[in-house]
Order: sequence, then structure tokens, then C-alpha cells
Amino acid sequence: MMYREIEKNGDKLSILGYGCMRYPRKNVSIDYERTEKQIITAIENGVNYFDTAYLYPGSEKTLGKILKSNGYREKVKIATKMPAQVVKTRQKMDEIFEKQLERLKTDYIDYYMIHNIIKFEDWENLKKFGILDFIEDEKKNGRIINFGFSFHGNLHEFKKTIDDYDWEFCMIQYNYVDENYQAGTEGLEYAASKNIGVIAMEPLRGGMLVDKLPKNAQKIIDDFKIKRSAGEWAFRWVWDNPAVKVVLSGMNDEKHIEENIKAASDALPNSLSLEEKEMLEKVKEEFKNKIKVECTNCAYCMPCPKGVDIPTCFSSYNDKSMFGGFKPQIMYVNATEDKSAAYKCTQCGICEKKCPQEIAIIEELKNVSKSMDKWYYRLLGKIVKLILYR
Ligand code: SF4
Ligand code: SF4
Repeated sequence: MMYREIEKNGDKLSILGYGCMRYPRKNVSIDYERTEKQIITAIENGVNYFDTAYLYPGSEKTLGKILKSNGYREKVKIATKMPAQVVKTRQKMDEIFEKQLERLKTDYIDYYMIHNIIKFEDWENLKKFGILDFIEDEKKNGRIINFGFSFHGNLHEFKKTIDDYDWEFCMIQYNYVDENYQAGTEGLEYAASKNIGVIAMEPLRGGMLVDKLPKNAQKIIDDFKIKRSAGEWAFRWVWDNPAVKVVLSGMNDEKHIEENIKAASDALPNSLSLEEKEMLEKVKEEFKNKIKVECTNCAYCMPCPKGVDIPTCFSSYNDKSMFGGFKPQIMYVNATEDKSAAYKCTQCGICEKKCPQEIAIIEELKNVSKSMDKWYYRLLGKIVKLILYR
């Protein structure tokens, strides 16, 4: 197992992090015995970063039980998250945090995050509710060691959030098709320039870079002289960037755990050859052929006086075209709500003058709206939110 150092605290974290969102199941329940074996295998092979969240059903409790009963707690770092969307008071923060310590059977959390910041406003709201005092108190008590956030918004909102606090770490979505999506490479490097440790999630884009690989893309991988699976190439692309400290994988299959551990034993930063990078660039092109708007997510067009979140509108629209399925649609309605959706555009034209890509933003937003602003998707988005944050 290879390790990378978080500059701010000197922690040496395994480059493979264990995402605890999808444990194996036996019927509808978590398969405890199998999960325990998988987690112990990972620890014994050097994985020392375990990522869970208050909102992942049964995850914190299961992880806590496994680490406690096997005496592994001190060998690993636990990362967990406070759900930003359900916290409206300091009292609620305290209640949730106590519950997390109890579930995880521990006195402290090594890496504590605000879960799923989409807009800078999410962080601003938490400050109004007392998050800064909460963090200061719990750091003094030694119950929170490092503080960070996980992020799913656009680059503009990411940079504002990064600049507003002395974060120890953050977690972003990052993979070879998402170089210019959400925080993207620019956000990653921006955070790293401030010595903020970056954890990468979604290296396989929720499995899509394996399951939804276009036929031509798979052929490029199969024909390449070095034989590796699509998944391994995707991991290696993320590890190649020295600014990434840990790549999370939501593991629940013995074979994948073994493969990931093997790949993590020699994935040095800057180790992909030019030829390998070019091969992955060609694979990426197969996805990019389906792109609708050549938006680079730079956010120079922002802010829009009407509040339209232009980069998010385009990235969700592109996502829908590249990968299909409901996920991009739900991400769109939940990220834009009724405030920053494409249909809010009044065609003033201010943004178009600022776009370096010369995108016909007004016309493209009309297309986004036609495809994504449907009342039934909004209803579905609200139901998903209710289930997640109830
Ligand atoms: S044209 Fe539309 S999206 Fe652009 S700034 Fe005006 S209202 Fe906002
Ligand atoms: S629309 Fe243009 S300015 Fe706005 S984020 Fe996309 S590329 Fe950048």
C-alpha cells in the first residue's frame, strides 16, 4: 500500500480509502460477517482511511462495531459527515455529533466533514447556526481532529468555500471525465495550493466508467499494450495527480477489494506515461462525443443577476447526455431548486459577454430547460431529499 501525507497534520493516509456507503447485503440488511471480513482484509493490507456518514443507513454503526471488536480503531482514521441540509441549530449539531460518536464507538473523529456543500450559501447558513463555535469547541475537546467538507457544486462556489475557512481537508468528485466538472482539476489544484488535503470520491463515477463505458472506449482499453481493467485505469488516472491524497472506493466485493489493493501498491504520483495518458484521453473522447455544451465550468459567466447557476445547468445537461439515467436529473433539480434553474434566465445577455468559450448561453439554457425543467423531476427530487434528510 502506498501512502500520501496531508501537509497540515503530517498524517500518512493510504492512497486507497474505504468508502462505507455500500456494504454487502443479505436480503435487505447489511451482511455483517461479510462486511467485517472485507474491512479486516482492507486494514491488514494497509488501508487506513474509512469514510462513512450520518446519512448512510447502518454504516456508522457497522463500522464502529467492527473496529471496536477487533481493536483496529487506533490503526485507522475515521472520516464521517454532518448532514448540512438537516442542521438548523447548534443543538442539532451537538445531538448528531453525539449520536455519531456513539454509533462509531469512539471518543473522537479523525476527519469530520460537512456533507455535500453545493453552494457557498450552505456553508454561510451553517455559520449562522453556530458551526464555527461547534468546531472550535469540539477541536478543543479533542473530539474532532480535522475539519473539512465534501462538495458537489461548481468551481466558483468551491473556491469561495475554500477561501472562507482554514480547512484541513476537503472531498471532491474527481475522475478522468470530470476534469472540468464541479471542482475539477482547477479546484483540486486550488485547494492543494493552500495545503488543503484533497480526498477524491467517485473515481469510477458511481461505476459508470466501468458499467457504461461506450463500446469503442472498451475497445481502446482492450487493444492497449498494457492490460488493465477499465476500473484500474480510472483509479490510476486519479492517483497520477500528486495533489490527490486518497481515492475513495465504495467497496463491497472481495474481488474488487483485492484488485484495488493490488493497484494501490505501486501507483506513484506522476507515474502514467505519455502513451498511457493519451490512451485515456481517447477513452474520454468517446464520452465527450456525447457532450451537448462545451462548457469548461470556469464560472467566468457568474454571477447571473437572476441567480441562474449556469455551470451547473450545463454540467447536468451534459451528464444526462453522456450517462443517461435519473441521477443527473436529480442532481440538477436538487442543486438548482427553484432558485437557480435554467428557466430563470431572462435573456439579459450579461453572461454571454464574459464566456471565454463564446457559448450561446441563452440558447443553450433554453435547451437545458426543455430537457431538465420538468415538474415531475422536481417532485422526484423533493421525494429523494425527503427520504435522505428525513
Ligand atoms: S442571460 Fe440569462 S443566464 Fe445570462 S446573465 Fe442574463 S439572466 Fe443570467
Ligand atoms: S458558460 Fe462559459 S463562462 Fe460560463 S462556466 Fe461555461 S465556459 Fe465558463
